[in-house]
Amino acid sequence: MEHAMPIRLLAIAFLLLGSLAAPAQTPWKAGAGKVVITPDRPMWMSGYGSRTKPAEGTASELYAKALMLETAAGERALLVTFDLVGIDRDTSQALIQAIRDKHPMPRERIILSVSHTHCGPVVGRNLRAMYFLDATQAKRVDDYTDGLPTLVLKAVDQAAKNLAPARIESGKGYATFATNRRNNKEKEVPALREAGKLLGPVDHDVPVLSVRDAEGKLQAVVFGYACHATTLDFYQWSGDWPGYAQAEIESAHPGVVALFWAGCGADQNPIPRRTQSLAQSYGKELAQAVESVLRAPMKPVAASLKARYEEIPLPLSELPTREKLAEEMRDPNKFIASRAKLLLEEWKTKGELPQSYPYPLQAWQLGDELTLLTMGGEVVVDYSLRFKKEIGDIWTMAYANDVMAYIPSARVLKEGGYEGATSMIYYGLPTTWSPRIEDLIVDASKRLVGEVRK
Ligand SMILES: [Zn+2]
Repeated sequence: MEHAMPIRLLAIAFLLLGSLAAPAQTPWKAGAGKVVITPDRPMWMSGYGSRTKPAEGTASELYAKALMLETAAGERALLVTFDLVGIDRDTSQALIQAIRDKHPMPRERIILSVSHTHCGPVVGRNLRAMYFLDATQAKRVDDYTDGLPTLVLKAVDQAAKNLAPARIESGKGYATFATNRRNNKEKEVPALREAGKLLGPVDHDVPVLSVRDAEGKLQAVVFGYACHATTLDFYQWSGDWPGYAQAEIESAHPGVVALFWAGCGADQNPIPRRTQSLAQSYGKELAQAVESVLRAPMKPVAASLKARYEEIPLPLSELPTREKLAEEMRDPNKFIASRAKLLLEEWKTKGELPQSYPYPLQAWQLGDELTLLTMGGEVVVDYSLRFKKEIGDIWTMAYANDVMAYIPSARVLKEGGYEGATSMIYYGLPTTWSPRIEDLIVDASKRLVGEVRK
């Protein structure tokens, strides 16, 4: 038919006009902020029991960063990330209190999350049996910890002030430097990688969340990766590869705040390691994975957020007797002796040792599209792999809200070793976790996810 063509063209023109005239899809409000949290004096560094002196300088600044979200219904939520090795329960509660006093929000709508950089300061009582601090150093740790809420509020205030219409999208990239450190000897890793013979479970996904304004300009990026931030062990403050990855993204997009969260990487290391150029190249690799997600079409996330937070009593195995602890006080291993001393003090104040630990789990459902589960502690990779298999597409953040210990799976607990057993010493916990740990955590996580997906 001869007039078919013009009509079709007209229809296309209308469609084009329609899309041009349509309001920009910015159903969310979002704002980000950041603040430097690098200690201003030589403090003891966290993460390694082998350190012999305080920090001697700054290789790269440490940050606390905040992303505030507001749904179409006007409900707010907040993610705060830190370039720190860990925060203990008391510090976490102080931070939450300070935030909620100024920015009232239900507890379940706030996530605190650390990158686990091993070139950050000792904070509160995190890894409390690992350090032997003199009075000056102990005071510096207390001062730093006490000052953290005021500092962090600066980033949160900025985020609140910057709240503006936004669209949020999600996507997934890939980076391969995380290596299972239990199943491969560090020295053999380069040759094994070359031969494609690396062993053990890994999770190489790079979940990415983008925040863009009405013009489509990037405002903030949130991304995760499941690996220890242990490339570096020198005496300089540094965010290690997560710090370099965030800096790389921020310098490629001036004005953007990039927030990193650590996944279930408790049994994963960046290997090879121990040089700054390696830390930088892992950071670059991760930043490139994020950039390739940002360049491709991403999945829009509708402007609703449902949240749940719960602390489940996570049981320990059989507790030591007082006699056993008294004996351990004289143990030639100084960390075992240090833990025994702390536990006997705790026994004295509380009248007993707790048989379980209040373990934090949290679930966020953003739109219908995105489920984020947060877990406390240093969680091994088996958990995120199991959730992907049993729950489907879900992001699992570890090192969130409280870093009280390693969280082994049933398999890793049974195998023992550092992540399954001996790491409990440095965290000042009296014994290993109960063999029921994995089932208890998985059941509670599935329940929370079920509730936010309803
Ligand atoms: Zn660790």
